[in-house]
Amino acid sequence: MSMNQEMEQTFQMFMGMVNELGTLAKPVDLPDSERIARAKKVFMEKTTWDIAAELEGCIHCGMCAEACHFRVSSGDPKYTPARKFELMRTVYRREMSPMRWVNRLVMPDITMKDLQESVELVYDSCTLCARCSMICPMGIHIAELVEYHREALAAAGMVPDEMLALDQEQAETGHIFNADREVLKFKVEELSQQYNVPIPLDKEGQVDVMILTSGLDLHLFNDAIVGTAKICNHAKLNWSYFTDSYEGANFGFMSGDAGNHRLEVSRVYEAAVKHGAKYVVAPECGHAYPALRFYAAEALGKPLPFDVLAPSEFIAMLYKEGKLKLKKPEDRTVVTFHDPCKVGRHGGVFEGPREVLKAMGLEVRETDSNRMVNICCGGGAAVFLLQNANELRQKTFELKYEEVKKTKAEALVVSCGSCRLNFERGKMNAGEGMPVDSFAQIVGDNLVS
Ligand code: SF4
Ligand code: SF4
Repeated sequence: MSMNQEMEQTFQMFMGMVNELGTLAKPVDLPDSERIARAKKVFMEKTTWDIAAELEGCIHCGMCAEACHFRVSSGDPKYTPARKFELMRTVYRREMSPMRWVNRLVMPDITMKDLQESVELVYDSCTLCARCSMICPMGIHIAELVEYHREALAAAGMVPDEMLALDQEQAETGHIFNADREVLKFKVEELSQQYNVPIPLDKEGQVDVMILTSGLDLHLFNDAIVGTAKICNHAKLNWSYFTDSYEGANFGFMSGDAGNHRLEVSRVYEAAVKHGAKYVVAPECGHAYPALRFYAAEALGKPLPFDVLAPSEFIAMLYKEGKLKLKKPEDRTVVTFHDPCKVGRHGGVFEGPREVLKAMGLEVRETDSNRMVNICCGGGAAVFLLQNANELRQKTFELKYEEVKKTKAEALVVSCGSCRLNFERGKMNAGEGMPVDSFAQIVGDNLVS
């Protein structure tokens, strides 16, 4: 579904909600000395011997500068990835390095001004896409170091207001964007009737597949919910949504709030165990996937007794198992596919969704950058929410969108709601654009009954 008039109205309403978010955050009141002490404590806790080797290892070659869409699109050297982990390096050198006694003589301690400057570098101008990590000749996982900076700033009470508001809402209620259980129940009923698709909610007994959604899909991208339901029904799966845990996004993880990350994944864990799920399928939300797939077991201190899959990975798995009979869409012949960073570069999900699109008889044209080195859309890691990032984000979007337009495809297919939102908003700002399809929706709409 491209952006029709009705969806455009919903989109504008949703963006209005996003623009108000900052006013809803409850500020964290701490003295400056406490903020600095808390940030330093996180940096030191995270500096294991291998991280120390990374912090020592930067040779200032500058290669990561060319990998970062924020640095390239702005031309501003302050966005060079190596600069984004400077604070952690300073704390390591002054407090932990074998040379710390000497370093303290020549290196000033970090200050509030440093922390304030870091907010822009690790929230507004980093989507944690890890493209820089791929290119660093010293093997420094820069995105991981940036994540530690987000944790340090979260501990210091310095998360940007928009992200903080959602982190606080989710911790208190289990949902985001006011998408509570009643909204879920209403949407499931409404969409079931409108599209004549059974959507099980709170199915009794044990299920094989527990599907998660997100406030973004409940408010805006309903087609991803419908597409997922059509696919699960077509494959005759024993599946359901559950009101006791349905939000897949994890604003604790995104903001760097380790306690709330643990709380959110524990909600999913407990529900999945209770309902006997063998698979938990994340929504089309880039960050929901790694929060559960790669970091939940560590956060909870125990292994997950179920597999976590991204929707594109899940759909590709069903296709490989022969459970999906696909047909060619009536309104599409040539598409291009965007690899969401957290599902692609982090999760290695590249060929599966392309195979499914090709099995539908579609030509899949690649953008110049794709798969492991794909350029990020600029909106991930909740950057799409941040007002301060608006101008910079639009520039980074245009970098990727030039590649998308060059394919001359009829539509861009994405499997991440944040990417989709960012593409839709970027297109709107630019006053032009190609339709953006959800991967789950385009597959769900083209199954042979
Ligand atoms: S992770 Fe991505 S956005 Fe962040 S510094 Fe590296 S290349 Fe830039
Ligand atoms: S590419 Fe690696 S070694 Fe070179 S400046 Fe960036 S972080 Fe340092």
